[in-house]
Parts: sequence; structure tokens; C-alpha cells
Amino acid sequence: MATKNNLPSRFHQRLASWAEQIDRPLPWREETDPYRIWLSEILLQQTRAETVIDYYYQFLARCPTIHHLSNLPVADLLKLWEGLGYYNRAHNLHKTARIISQERDGIFPNTYEGLIALPGIGPYTAAAIASFAFALPHAVLDGNVIRVISRLAGILEPVDQASTKQQLQFLADQLIIKADPSRFNQAMMDFGALQCTPRNPGCCDCPFANDCLALRMDLVDQLPIKRKKQPVTNRTFVFFIFQKKNTLWLVHRSDRDIWPQLHTFPAIEITDLPIRKQKAHVQKAVFDWTGLDLPFILDKKPLLNQLLSHQRIYGHFIQMNLPTSTTLPSDWIAIRNGDFSQHAMPRIMRTYLEDHLLS
Ligand code: SF4
Repeated sequence: MATKNNLPSRFHQRLASWAEQIDRPLPWREETDPYRIWLSEILLQQTRAETVIDYYYQFLARCPTIHHLSNLPVADLLKLWEGLGYYNRAHNLHKTARIISQERDGIFPNTYEGLIALPGIGPYTAAAIASFAFALPHAVLDGNVIRVISRLAGILEPVDQASTKQQLQFLADQLIIKADPSRFNQAMMDFGALQCTPRNPGCCDCPFANDCLALRMDLVDQLPIKRKKQPVTNRTFVFFIFQKKNTLWLVHRSDRDIWPQLHTFPAIEITDLPIRKQKAHVQKAVFDWTGLDLPFILDKKPLLNQLLSHQRIYGHFIQMNLPTSTTLPSDWIAIRNGDFSQHAMPRIMRTYLEDHLLS
């Protein structure tokens, strides 16, 4: 690659020869049904392909068409989604399923503009559906493709900056094979995933080694450049396991804040509360819910933690046995005999259940 914008015409042949040699069987490969492509692409956001395969089959078994997905209760969808995290993706999946099923008779838009207007579909997913399902010449720009192009073209600006993204998209759109955008996009993503990997890329046998500016400038390990990550915020919650004989209680979380519409034990947040005030705060919450002053121990250290995208959640867990006459808030969900199987939960809850209640 002689200059940033002078991409060699032999690129296509080399990419095609490289792609012919690889063997990466994935269930959505060569798929042309927009529903299946969309489903796989949403599942693949922020998640490794190997992890997604089982989820993909489970979704298709339960929802073979977009109408089935549209009719699936949100609680069931969240249960299917459990473990993937980033639950907004699941909510947007449902919104889009409803729009397409109810307003478009199950037909996906067949233009990039129509696709990107749907909830949860950004430039990458719109380009993927447009090219894989409708053979439209839109280059996908996922993390793999960004890494490949930024190294090949020696891009020294942060790739998560809007102007650099535009530059990357421009280069990718110039490169795309207009007659076969689907194969080109797939090959570029595979090349980033298998050859031009984040660490230890295969530069020695790379078909583009002679043209790669990052290799020439000895910057392979430093590209792509990213801006500083958003700092992680620490938050601490106390989860209460209220028990009456063989019954425990969950709450259904609202759409606000973390874990929208998932289920947790009743919980309060004690982030930023000085230690001397934490106990009183917990005591008050218990009294407000139960009308009781129950004894408890709040350990100095939280028992579990879970890292979300920009938050680390620390969790204390307090078990309390309640007298049978205790009245609890009417919107709490009673779980009898440890049967939590119907309720979608965040990972910190599942971990607690598996370690302490279900073993
Ligand atoms: S030479 Fe190395 S860094 Fe450059 S495209 Fe090939 S694998 Fe990636």
C-alpha cells in the first residue's frame, strides 16, 4: 500500500486466495435470510463467535421466524439471552422484531437506510445485513476490519474518533468488491479474526506484508490506536435473601439503571456511603420492606463482583429468615423450592445461586 488512499488493485485477488484456504465453519456463514443474519449479528455484538453458536441455535429453535420472536414475551426473551450481558441489545432485538412483524408483515427493509433506521441496528449491522442478505455494496467495519485497515493504511489517529471512523469507512468502501460484497465482507472479517489478530498477527505469511504500512513502520503492535477507555465506576449493592420456609423472593427490576427488566433479590445500593452509615441504611431498608428490626451482619468485603462495560458491581448478600406472619411488598415474586429457572438474572445473581443455594 503506497499511500493511505492508494489501495492496490491486487488486494482483491490476494484476499480471495487467502479466504479460499481458511476453514471457519459458522452456522450463519453463507446465510442469505435477513432474519437469521440480523439475529446472528446482534448476538455477535460484544460476544465471541464460539459463544454465540449455542445461543443462535436456541433462538432459532424457539423463534424460527421473526413473527415468533415478536410474539415472545420479553421475560422469555431475556431468559434466552441470559449470560450474554448488554441487555439493551435484547430489548432492541424485541423492538425491531415487533416493528418488522407487525408493521412490515415480516419483511426486512432491503436498503441500508431502511435497516439502520431500526432499533439496535447501527452502521456495522446495517452493512452486514445489506451485503449478506441483499448483496448491496456496503463495507462492514467491525473491530476486525478496523484493525486490518488501520494497520494496512498505517492510520495513526484513534480509530474510535468519528473522523477516523469516516476515513476507515471510506477506505473500506473503496476496497469492497461491488460484484460480491458479501464474500468480501466475510473475508475481511475472517482475515482480522484469524490472520491480522490483535496480538501476534501472522505478518510472516501475510499476503499483504509487502504493502502493509504498519509492518513497514514497525507499528503493528501499536495499531489500531484507541483513545483512553472510559474509567470503570465501582458500585456496591446489598442483596437480601429473605426466606420463609422454602420460599425466597425476587424483584423485577425496572427499565432504569442497570439490569433492566431482569430479576434480582431485593437490593439497595450503598455506593459512596461511609461504612459507619451503611449498617443503618441496610436496617432501614429491611424495616421499610418487612416492618421488622432483624439482626444481620454486613461483611466488610463484598462477597462477589461483576464487571459490566463501564461499571464494576460489588455485591453483599444477606440471608434473613422471616417469621411466617411477615407481609412483604406485593410486587415481589415468590420463588418456591429454589425454582429460579423461569427468571432471567444478571450473572452476579446466578453465581450466588449456584455457589450458595442451588448446589
Ligand atoms: S502484515 Fe501483519 S499487520 Fe499487516 S495486514 Fe498482514 S497481518 Fe496485519
